[in-house]
Amino acid sequence: MTVHDTLARPLRDLRISVTDRCNFRCSYCMPRDIFGSSFVFLSRSDLLTFEEIARAARLFVANGVEKIRLTGGEPLIRRDLERLVEMLAAIDGLRDLTLTTNGSLLTPEKAQSLRAAGLQRITISLDSLDDAVFRAMNDANFPVAAVLEAIDAAATAGLAPVKIDMVVKRRINDDGVPGMARRFRNSGHIVRFIEYMDVGNTNGWRLDDVVSAREIVERIGREWPIEPAEPNYLGEVAERWRYLDGAGEIGVIGSVTRPFCGTCTRARLSAEGEFFTCLFAGRGFDLRGVLRSGTPDQEVLAAIANVWRLRADRYSEIRSEATRGTRKVEMYHIGG
Ligand code: SAM
Ligand code: SF4
Ligand code: SF4
Repeated sequence: MTVHDTLARPLRDLRISVTDRCNFRCSYCMPRDIFGSSFVFLSRSDLLTFEEIARAARLFVANGVEKIRLTGGEPLIRRDLERLVEMLAAIDGLRDLTLTTNGSLLTPEKAQSLRAAGLQRITISLDSLDDAVFRAMNDANFPVAAVLEAIDAAATAGLAPVKIDMVVKRRINDDGVPGMARRFRNSGHIVRFIEYMDVGNTNGWRLDDVVSAREIVERIGREWPIEPAEPNYLGEVAERWRYLDGAGEIGVIGSVTRPFCGTCTRARLSAEGEFFTCLFAGRGFDLRGVLRSGTPDQEVLAAIANVWRLRADRYSEIRSEATRGTRKVEMYHIGG
């Protein structure tokens, strides 16, 4: 059964954060001055167990979800993630199972074991090919070369097509946009350029720092002619662009300048089991409380459906001075 919200948007996608921890401190997500050594992360007992996640996922699928993305924090920090992947891959009706990672822990063995457990595809974040810029952006002194190795490992394991996500921030890494496109032309991988967003309340976001989707497309199109391609499915967030010379495609995610709330079919589950209906929501629904109180499946199913039915979120469409000061969940909490 598919449940629709107040704006007739079906529930189709679920992003599951498996941890709030990360070994990077990207300034746009977990700035080190806030997420330093004294920051208190969730304790083990706060986290949903794999069994709880799999049960919730099964009931989301029964409500119409077809696609699940595992995320974090950094999802590969969670031990034995393959066990969860295996449990999710076994859910009847789930068509797509994928994961977003910073690549730092994605060895060839890890990529193979995730694939063997049933992971279908992977997205690896990489903000720059310039080692100094990248090390500064991840603020963990992590080198570009290791992420490039992770991308190769993913492709070799058959987690294809590999998507490579670059958040573009003006004056920080935007001059690397054409270079990133060039590096992955003809590779079979798909680079996606993401507008820097005002998620959470800690990253000091300013509109000035956003490089618009339009500008990104212009900069790439100037070097290699491109044309728009049809979306793969309703609600795809990335606009697809194809190189006219057959070198592949890129994606551009214009969350700020080209909001796509009208077709937003995404639910999010935080590591401690809060169910969010928008990336910019201030609070979520305590699904963990429901899961841990002995509630039968039919009632959990109905609880999920009821939250979705009441959904009216369209933050990116109404973003303004008025929404600026509102309390929002942090990105590391629900994983983008
Ligand atoms: N740690 C993993 C990673 O970095 O791929 C998964 C979680 S991370 C929160 C998911 C994605 O959100 C990453 O691609 C990251 O670049 C993106 N992201 C984080 N903060 C963002 C922001 N303020 N604007 C746009 N994208 C952001
Ligand atoms: Fe970690 Fe990903 Fe956030 Fe960077 S974007 S701090 S890698 S969770
Ligand atoms: Fe979906 Fe909220 Fe983003 Fe709009 S702002 S696209 S409703 S997550």
